[in-house]
Amino acid sequence: MAAERTLAIIKPDALEKGVIGQIVNRMEENDLKVVAMRMMQLSKEKAEGFYAVHKDKPFFGELVTFMTSGPVVVMCLEGKDAVAKWRTVMGATDPSKAAEGTVRADFGTDIQCNATHGSDAAETAKQEIAYFFENSDIVKYEWN
Ligand code: ADP
Ligand code: MG
Repeated sequence: MAAERTLAIIKPDALEKGVIGQIVNRMEENDLKVVAMRMMQLSKEKAEGFYAVHKDKPFFGELVTFMTSGPVVVMCLEGKDAVAKWRTVMGATDPSKAAEGTVRADFGTDIQCNATHGSDAAETAKQEIAYFFENSDIVKYEWN
């Protein structure tokens, strides 16, 4: 079965806590292979474009301020059912409601500062990956 891809972002709050490595570890432990990875400071325009689907939500302005408050790590993950799997490993949006042992339960702070992003469907994953990466940025290697 062809591997699926998803977009993950390690958000500024997680960088402030110094847990990049622990979050990447959760990916690897769950057979989510990192096939592209970049650290960057999002501009206001880049963050607004990424979260355009939420532009009419009351939290949009704050979300953009948060996402531009420090650097992020943007990653493309590959694996079987990668979209759903990364959502499960991350846990619910609100860390206080996220299942025990999930990334957001362990490293998130609140519903806004929740450590990571993950695409919500195969189609949005394609768009989100293309928003940050060229095809040539995505590498191939064997593991396991
Ligand atoms: P998810 O990241 O789990 O897919 P959403 O797509 O609903 O969640 O929201 C995008 C991001 O916006 C969340 O990860 C979180 O950082 C922020 N967010 C969502 N809901 C709220 C809220 N009620 N108040 C503040 N920030 C929010
Ligand atoms: Mg979402």
